[in-house]
Amino acid sequence: MIEVSTCVICDSPIRRLKRALVAPFVAERTWKRKPFCVDLVGCDTCGFKFYNPRLDDKDLSNLYRGYRSPEYQRMRFATEPWYTPSFNADLASPNSYEIRRAKLAPILRQHLGEQKIGRILDYGGDRGDLVVGLVDGAEPFSYDISGIDVAPGVTPTKDPTACKPDLIVNSNVLEHVGFPRVLVNEILNAAPKGGLVFLDVPCEFPFGFARLARRIAQIAVMTLMRPATSRYILRPATLYMMHQHINYFTEHSLRVLMESCNGEVIATGTYPYGSRAGRADMAWCLARKN
Ligand SMILES: [Zn+2]
Repeated sequence: MIEVSTCVICDSPIRRLKRALVAPFVAERTWKRKPFCVDLVGCDTCGFKFYNPRLDDKDLSNLYRGYRSPEYQRMRFATEPWYTPSFNADLASPNSYEIRRAKLAPILRQHLGEQKIGRILDYGGDRGDLVVGLVDGAEPFSYDISGIDVAPGVTPTKDPTACKPDLIVNSNVLEHVGFPRVLVNEILNAAPKGGLVFLDVPCEFPFGFARLARRIAQIAVMTLMRPATSRYILRPATLYMMHQHINYFTEHSLRVLMESCNGEVIATGTYPYGSRAGRADMAWCLARKN
């Protein structure tokens, strides 16, 4: 873990907002230890909120080894009774990718304009399912360090620079990483000059009613069905529990992140996930590498 003293997006001062418990599953899988507390901090300049200390590369590799494999599911189920095999499978089901593509395709169509996309690269997107058919006529590639098998029709690449992608898509990844600027710089480095980068992240608010209600429900279920965890989780810090999303982005902080890596922002926006019209569940940013 790496303790930081300034914002990991814009380098401005940060302040502590809350103490937050590390989820039992995350503590066990990443550090082989019992749940403990970290700080939830915020940057008043760019609005980014995150847990501190940060997860380093080794922590992330421990946490995500065998991501969503049967062994991962069983370990998570041991403290999270709702994380059943079918729940785990649904997260990466064909239907879930179809929903995500249906959200992103119109946004890309609107903002790509006349730009021709010959090659599209899913950067860190598992099997590359998301980019298959996402942009008309674009050949799909996938770069994922896990070395997982790719989806039908997708070409895997070990060197994202070599495939010279016209558009790189990084979706639902940045909320998991300790140092988002490092990853966005890597993505921009993989793009050819004039290439496009599309970032897509959940737009979550740690103190929102829906989030707190969900945490309370989870605490109740864990206490009832996994009583051994109750001695760790029955405390206020569990309301702001750190799970695998260790970053809270807004549309603005995502733009600041892209600009801080010298990406030329073309457009940003938000969209609702699922059918809840009018909600800003996800934030996106489209930029060009100059
Ligand atoms: Zn900041």
